[in-house]
Amino acid sequence: MPKYDRRTLLAASAAGVVAHALPALAAPLYSFRHGAFGVTVVSDGHLVLPTSFLAPDAPPAEREAMLRAAGQTGGQYHSPTNVTLLSTANDLILIDMGSGDRFMPSAGKLWENLKTAGFDKAKISKVVFTHGHPDHLWGAVDELDEVVTPDAAFYVAAAEWDFWSSENATRGLPAERAGFVTGARRNYAAIKGRVTMVKGGDEIVSGLRILDTPGHTQGHVAIELAGGDGLIVGGDVLTHQLISFQHPEWRPPADHVADQAVTTRRKLLDRLATDRSKLIGFHLPYPGVGTVERKDGAYRFAPIA
Ligand SMILES: [Zn+2]
Repeated sequence: MPKYDRRTLLAASAAGVVAHALPALAAPLYSFRHGAFGVTVVSDGHLVLPTSFLAPDAPPAEREAMLRAAGQTGGQYHSPTNVTLLSTANDLILIDMGSGDRFMPSAGKLWENLKTAGFDKAKISKVVFTHGHPDHLWGAVDELDEVVTPDAAFYVAAAEWDFWSSENATRGLPAERAGFVTGARRNYAAIKGRVTMVKGGDEIVSGLRILDTPGHTQGHVAIELAGGDGLIVGGDVLTHQLISFQHPEWRPPADHVADQAVTTRRKLLDRLATDRSKLIGFHLPYPGVGTVERKDGAYRFAPIA
């Protein structure tokens, strides 16, 4: 076993080989600069979901072929969960907070992974939520229902807050997902005193804007970053690396307002392909960073990493 001192570590780190040289260390997080922002993608682990969840109304033969191409045979598949962390001169900003410890044992790893990478969650100054589903929101509180980031201000789309707070929340959801409503309300209650309601077009910090992308949930938003050809943190508009791009018209049951979700998906794909903006996809294979190309009358995700 070779001995590593600080100098060797730094040299190895600079060469990007730390993960291979020292298997005991976690793999480095994927980071890059975009305009005024440092961008880091942090995994919250993954979800284990039934494969049937992907596109139940699609032609079965076509669906099976696509799942096989994505390596997703069998009754279940793993859906990655990628949280985006932005740094500016003044702020450390999280887009979504992962699942926390009450959703699935395979998820809720965000805080552990941030800590391993040397980030202090107490330094997070702002959190913007794309929507109120468990894998994006429930990491806001700990096991005592206390907010995990002591000094952060929170930003939630007004339409999303209103949906989860209203009677319509339970009406629109299948019975087995009634717990989603309880969880959303529990997390919203914890952040209530520190939340600012936002809508499409609002700027949170210079160069970071809210983009209305309804359908997956009633008030779902994406995040636009200025700089270069642009970058969009897409939340759950595009949730599968093949299906969402080749068949944006297929309707995953996770979309609350299915037809609106299809319209939003097509609109975002068209914009990403036209502008050549970068996309960060919450459920695309880590780090979920890439661009979108037109292909055969539909689209293709071209991962950058
Ligand atoms: Zn999600």
